[in-house]
Amino acid sequence: MSLRPPAFSYTARGALHCESVPIESLARRYGTPLYVYSAAMVRARLKAFATAFHSSPHTICYSVKANSTLAILRLIAKERAGFDVVSGGELERVLRSSPKAASKVVFSGVGKTAQEMELALRSGILLFNVESASELNLLAATATRLKKRARIAVRVNPDVPAKTHPYISTGLHQHKFGVPIPESKNLYAEAATSPYLEVAGVSVHIGSQITDVATFQSALDRAADLVGSLRQQGHNIRYVDAGGGLGINYEGMQDNFEKQIASYARAVLKALRGLNVHLLLEPGRSIVGPAGVLLTRVLYRKTNHSKRFLIVDAAMNDLLRPSLYGAYHEIIPVSGRSRETETTDIVGPICETGDFFARDRKLPVANEGELLAILDAGAYGAVLASNYNTRGRPAEVLVDGARSKLIRRRESLQDQLSREKL
Ligand SMILES: *Cc1c(COP(=O)(O)O)cnc(C)c1O
Repeated sequence: MSLRPPAFSYTARGALHCESVPIESLARRYGTPLYVYSAAMVRARLKAFATAFHSSPHTICYSVKANSTLAILRLIAKERAGFDVVSGGELERVLRSSPKAASKVVFSGVGKTAQEMELALRSGILLFNVESASELNLLAATATRLKKRARIAVRVNPDVPAKTHPYISTGLHQHKFGVPIPESKNLYAEAATSPYLEVAGVSVHIGSQITDVATFQSALDRAADLVGSLRQQGHNIRYVDAGGGLGINYEGMQDNFEKQIASYARAVLKALRGLNVHLLLEPGRSIVGPAGVLLTRVLYRKTNHSKRFLIVDAAMNDLLRPSLYGAYHEIIPVSGRSRETETTDIVGPICETGDFFARDRKLPVANEGELLAILDAGAYGAVLASNYNTRGRPAEVLVDGARSKLIRRRESLQDQLSREKL
């Protein structure tokens, strides 16, 4: 059975594979908890974006914060994509994994420091997405000091509600992100007076895990109006950065990404029809989310009165999404042999009630020592890992066809203690 084609499937004998590699062999070789990523899935998702947007000049700037492991960035750079970064650290990762990608980098974020701007200016990035008047002033001063021109877009806040979790909705006026559209016009006018700033685009990003494409269209309709009025004022707007945020289907065994990406592209391109701009897209989750699983082993079975628990060796420090957002992840046994089901909580060893992966989940009965795979963990998984409870962050493996490669070794206790002093 194919679960997340072309990445994860069960063989006829019920063994879960990542591409052609048995997942069980990865657990034996690299230990658990373990992130396992499929290169084929990442390539397929990038290709689906390129196909859906082929009628418009565009650049995919993969959002590094979704998964910033160097080997993942290199894989994406090899497919000729660019990057969206939100910190100097993320830019350093891009430069290390693919030095030539700098010219396809956009820099977003509400709190850029002078030092981060300097690194971006020296690297020759494509575009700064400016999020306030104060940031614009600092960028002008920094660019003037270095005598480097900065291409800018203002990230506007279109004031449209995105139907998603409140923590990852960003396009309402009460959120910290972007500049209200009326006010943005003053920023563009201001920017045009600086010889080291080049007004180049309009940027909008309204949140994450958005599945209703009409929301993107309303935001971009407003961005398109702004492009029109800025051009009337004499600004040379060549780029529209449509942000990221396309949701994935966490629930259920199948998704239909081809259809979803096609309707997303229709919504975006409809809003921008006739504008003749170069489109920038910043997908993160939709590229890497379904490409990864978190592999974990059942440590103990436990029953409190009638409540059943599976205590597994992964925890909220490895994958925070269920605890942070109440997010749903499919969880499946690595051995797909048929058996009875039971209703159980799947929890980690951390001393927090919030340390859970699933509650009251119907699952095939799993024995102690068995392996489970938590699906769709490729985005906002490893990047959000921490050392809570002095747990080392998990190892990460990239599978490509029949090969697997350790792309991040498991964090040792020594790694954790080495920066401390007594
Ligand atoms: C987080 C973020 C993205 C990526 O969002 P996804 O939901 O992962 O696609 C894109 N652009 C900006 C500015 C972001 O902050």
